[in-house]
Amino acid sequence: MPDLEFRSADARFRVHVPGVTVRRLLHLCRSSGTRETGGILVGGYSAMLDCARVSAASGPPTDSVRGPSWFQRGTRGLQAWLERRWASRGDHYLGEWHFHPYAPPAPSNTDLQQLGRIARTVDYHCPEPILLIIGGDPAGKWLISAHVVPRGQAAIPLQRFQNPAEPDLVTRSYGSD
Ligand SMILES: [Zn+2]
Repeated sequence: MPDLEFRSADARFRVHVPGVTVRRLLHLCRSSGTRETGGILVGGYSAMLDCARVSAASGPPTDSVRGPSWFQRGTRGLQAWLERRWASRGDHYLGEWHFHPYAPPAPSNTDLQQLGRIARTVDYHCPEPILLIIGGDPAGKWLISAHVVPRGQAAIPLQRFQNPAEPDLVTRSYGSD
C-alpha cells in the first residue's frame, strides 16, 4: 500500500498518511462490519508547518458508541496512549478518522461540527484538526476523503495528490473525479 498525500487546492494544507496506517484503518473498518468505527490520528508537522504527517491511528476507544450511520468516539485509554506516543515519538494529536460503511466518505454536518468544536477546544492543542473518512467497502472498493477544519473557518476539502509515476489505485479522494 503506497503512502497517500492530500492537498488543498491552494496547497496551503497538506496531509501525508503512510501506507501502513491506511492498511490499519482498512483493517479496523473491516473488523467493524456494518457499523461505523473510528479513532484519533497522531503525528507531527513538517518543518515548514504546511504538511501534517500522520504516524499512527488509534482504534475505537471501548467507551465509543456506534451504529450503521453514527459514531461517537469515546475517550477511554486515549490520554495514556497519546502520552506514550508523545514520549516515544514526539507525536501529538492531529485529528480524527472514522468509517462510513458502504457509503460515500462525505462528512456529515455533525462530523464537521465535531471537528469545529475540537479546533476551538484549547485542551486539544490542535487549531487545524484533520478529518479522514473511509467509505465504501474496506475489503474491496474503498474511498477516502480528507478535510482540514481550521479554527473558526469552514472545512477545507483536500484532494488526493498523486504522483503521475505512481500506479493507479482503487482509491480516490471523494469528489476528485
Ligand atoms: Zn461521518
